[in-house]
Amino acid sequence: MVYRSGVALLIALYPGSFDPITLGHLDIIERGCRLFELVIVVVLPNRSKSPLFSVEQRLGQIRPSISHLANAKVDSFEGLTVDYARQMKAGVVLRGLRVLSDFEKELQMAHVNATLAGELETVFLVTSTEYSFLSSSLVKEIASFGGPIHHLVPPHVALDIHKCYGKTFPPTKTESVQ
Ligand code: ADP
Repeated sequence: MVYRSGVALLIALYPGSFDPITLGHLDIIERGCRLFELVIVVVLPNRSKSPLFSVEQRLGQIRPSISHLANAKVDSFEGLTVDYARQMKAGVVLRGLRVLSDFEKELQMAHVNATLAGELETVFLVTSTEYSFLSSSLVKEIASFGGPIHHLVPPHVALDIHKCYGKTFPPTKTESVQ
């Protein structure tokens, strides 16, 4: 393990709302696992958004999604990412970048974290092209209208989302005549 200023550079935190986890998130986690010794997916409650799933449900969705990755684990934390990083002795915050609008928000967060904890590096991975449009909110919007989401999230997550909206895809006969 490589340490600098007492933190392990090769432990990366991947914090986010993950409400719910998408294949775009999973792509970042898998690629992160190739770069770092350990990737800890950190579910943050995110008070500014009203979530579809509880933190417990999100943890339950992420666990089987990352079970094929020996060096990934999931946890939740309420508080500042820098405090959790200190607790875990993590040296890196991993984030994904999709579009220019992500960049502004992400850059601000990286600077804030750097002022709070100078030993913490933020590493950005550029989204894989096929997931560049994908967000948790988009998945929820499609599902709320009964659209297909199986190509956007792991299968067990698609089931959970459809249960929430009381819709299935493809629509059952009764749904399609409404
Ligand atoms: P937050 O609520 O903090 O934005 P999210 O769960 O939406 O958390 O996302 C966590 C991180 O994953 C963010 O850095 C976000 O930019 C990144 N991300 C989300 N979707 C994708 C995607 N399709 N491709 C790459 N990165 C993504």
